[in-house]
Amino acid sequence: MSIDSQQKYADVILPLALPEVYSYSIPPELVSQITIGIRVEVPLRNKLYSGIVYKIRSESTLKTKPIRSVIDAFPIVTELQLTFWEWMSDYYFASLGEIMHNALPSGLKLESETKVIINPEFDIDALHLSDDEYLVAEALSIRNELTIAQIQEILQRKTVYPILKKLLDDQIISIKEELIEKFKPKTATFVQLTEWHKEDSNLTSAFGLVSKSTKQTDVLLAFAQLIRQQKEVSINDLASLAKVDAATIKALVKKEIFVTYQRTVSRLNLDEKSEIDALPQLTVAQNTALLQAEAAFVDGKPCLIHGVTGSGKTRVYAELIKKEMALGNQVLYLLPEIALTSHIVERLKSLFSAEILVYHSRLNNQERVEIWNAVGRGAKIIVGARSSVFLPYQNLKLVVIDEEHDPSFKQQEPAPRYNARDAAIFLAKMHGAKVVLGSATPSLESMLNVANQKYTLSVLSERYGDATMPSIGIIDLRPAYKDQRFDGIFSAPLIDAMQATMEEGKQVLLFQNRRGYSPSLHCPMCGWKAECVNCDVHLTLHKLSQELRCHYCNTRSKLPRQCPACGTVELVEQGFGTERIEEVIKTHFPNKTAARIDLDTAKTKLQFEKILYEFEERNIDILVGTQMITKGIDFDNIGLVAVLNADSLFRFPDFRANERAFQLLTQVGGRAGRRGMSSQVLIQTFTPDHPIIKETLDQDYASFFKREMYERQKFIYPPTFRLIHIEVHHKYKEIAHEAAQMLAKIIQKHIGNRLVGPAVPSIERIRGLYIRSMMIKMEKNPVVGKKIRQIIKDAIAEVKRYPNTKAIRIIVDVDP
Ligand code: ADP
Ligand code: ZN
Ligand code: ZN
Repeated sequence: MSIDSQQKYADVILPLALPEVYSYSIPPELVSQITIGIRVEVPLRNKLYSGIVYKIRSESTLKTKPIRSVIDAFPIVTELQLTFWEWMSDYYFASLGEIMHNALPSGLKLESETKVIINPEFDIDALHLSDDEYLVAEALSIRNELTIAQIQEILQRKTVYPILKKLLDDQIISIKEELIEKFKPKTATFVQLTEWHKEDSNLTSAFGLVSKSTKQTDVLLAFAQLIRQQKEVSINDLASLAKVDAATIKALVKKEIFVTYQRTVSRLNLDEKSEIDALPQLTVAQNTALLQAEAAFVDGKPCLIHGVTGSGKTRVYAELIKKEMALGNQVLYLLPEIALTSHIVERLKSLFSAEILVYHSRLNNQERVEIWNAVGRGAKIIVGARSSVFLPYQNLKLVVIDEEHDPSFKQQEPAPRYNARDAAIFLAKMHGAKVVLGSATPSLESMLNVANQKYTLSVLSERYGDATMPSIGIIDLRPAYKDQRFDGIFSAPLIDAMQATMEEGKQVLLFQNRRGYSPSLHCPMCGWKAECVNCDVHLTLHKLSQELRCHYCNTRSKLPRQCPACGTVELVEQGFGTERIEEVIKTHFPNKTAARIDLDTAKTKLQFEKILYEFEERNIDILVGTQMITKGIDFDNIGLVAVLNADSLFRFPDFRANERAFQLLTQVGGRAGRRGMSSQVLIQTFTPDHPIIKETLDQDYASFFKREMYERQKFIYPPTFRLIHIEVHHKYKEIAHEAAQMLAKIIQKHIGNRLVGPAVPSIERIRGLYIRSMMIKMEKNPVVGKKIRQIIKDAIAEVKRYPNTKAIRIIVDVDP
């Protein structure tokens, strides 16, 4: 047997949008270290990447490069995760590389950072170098290698590439490519008593040494207190308890009372607290829901809890979680991103203490890596946004999907465009985990699954305790519109209601689904309109920053003082965003405090929480906000919740617009009267007869479901049917058009009238690219689905083979 026949190869997933995995040969000395799921260092097009070993094989048809090195001692991705990735890749039209890129925290993806090294054969003194070149060469001969950043520092300027290029051309230096691990464990400094003082349990001599300084005495007292409660005392804990700075503690080190040492610590904010609050008693209704869920699990079915806002769904989840904890199992609690900033995490923490890890996109990299590793080691409860479906679960036995209807479970950009609710259900199946979904306004998808007996249903129709459902009222804007006092936002009845609410010392919450000052600006003389140069949309006026902004591509420009086309100075603002509403409130209620919560004022978690805190502390009388206010606000002093313009919710060009409107209006209304206080909800609308308005008023989910299902079925939409949406993007309209035609023709040959389009979408151009879209409507049959997905994949490959279609982007969105 020749040595060659033992040669092994590895297929490696690289964190890039490449369609394929790449094969590398495994050098004999690395064979024993390489297993599936481990990270390796591999070259691709003159760069180095960390990839994940996907498959190991004994033959390769291609010429392969060798793997450079093995990065991990143990796999960082389990085989079960790779199976999950394969499913996601196939179902949602994403490559394994795109999924890896999305799934892994960037702390686990290595980057190549350029370093330069000196070529040892040169005697730099013998060469004619410029001053700068000499400086670099000299530094290199002393320090062996430098990063670009270090060279910039040495030369004290940003542009160093010309000098480097010259040195490279003259072969004085060369480039060293090296992978650096981005993740660095966090360390902390601790203090302990020196050997000599340790023996004295009363610390008599130590106190004697510091008796002249009250501050140092405080430190010693604080230390004595802390060491009784915990094994180790960090400098930070000591300084904050004694209320001194680090210098005071150093003085005790100098007196040889303390010695310091460093140790890596976890970034996870795990409380050491071990006892947990006892769970309150379940109500009769909650107990029934619990039994129904458990009966569903026995049948191997997910359970959907349809519980009105405030019915205490969380209490039922908590009971299910407690049972899994007792068995030592892992639990995933999936929530929409924004809900994670709210009280719910605090509430779960108080119930389950240290065992909860929270995973979402606003954590920093290092924190994400630590959570990743902790889940791999078996951490018990993970509360997370959609990306938490990618964590390396070991023993997942329960998945809770709260607010299951929420549109933010669907990832839009970039690929994989997955729905985390659906992915979590697949994940649960792989792990043999139970599933419970919950919502006050279940999605039609989940409710249809109940109707088809795929899920079981459990209903909580009453709010917990003495809290009652708010009364909902309608303000018809049609007569109000003719009223002189109507300013376009606030009708007279709404102003009166706000006034009355605040006179009772209660607060007002206003909802408007549009941020910025006003959504359009135009010239009354020549008809000029403020439009984005990259997208076919109006620019939104932001008054505070004196800017026009595109909410699609984020382009910003200065607010023009006069019409750029004809020079007229009076430009007209049309429509109302949250910023303008906040301003108008001040004219109506000059003595009240108003604030707003939207993407502009609450960009970070901290800003968001600060505004909510001020509202909770009643420092704000009127809070106006976008979607962000529909979740997480659970305060007891809200007397009035108003929706300023319900009609704008129906106008979206989306087949789910009505469903979203029903959900939003119900959720917004759910903010009112949570704590046994009477409160009201007012909805301003020009279309009081709209069925959604009526169904919201009556809180009639059953009628909503029946009517909406009928419409969806009639027009061949989900949930009865499946959709795949395809977009073709290109810089030139003609090419986008032709490529779309070509793609449609190929697909249509195989699937006939299931294909609709191609068509020009309502926004034809975004970020400088023209768009053509088409839609596939198909029956809900897994075999048909699989066939059609393959047809689409083949058709895309065929279109991409034509030379001038190379630069087109084709985006496939499954279950949009
Ligand atoms: P939902 O998530 O269904 O909107 P929550 O779980 O937020 O409802 O519950 C509403 C309120 O009722 C919360 O303040 C919660 O603490 C309280 N609550 C619910 N169930 C119970 C119970 N069994 N015992 C005590 N308080 C409860
Ligand atoms: Zn003009
Ligand atoms: Zn734009």
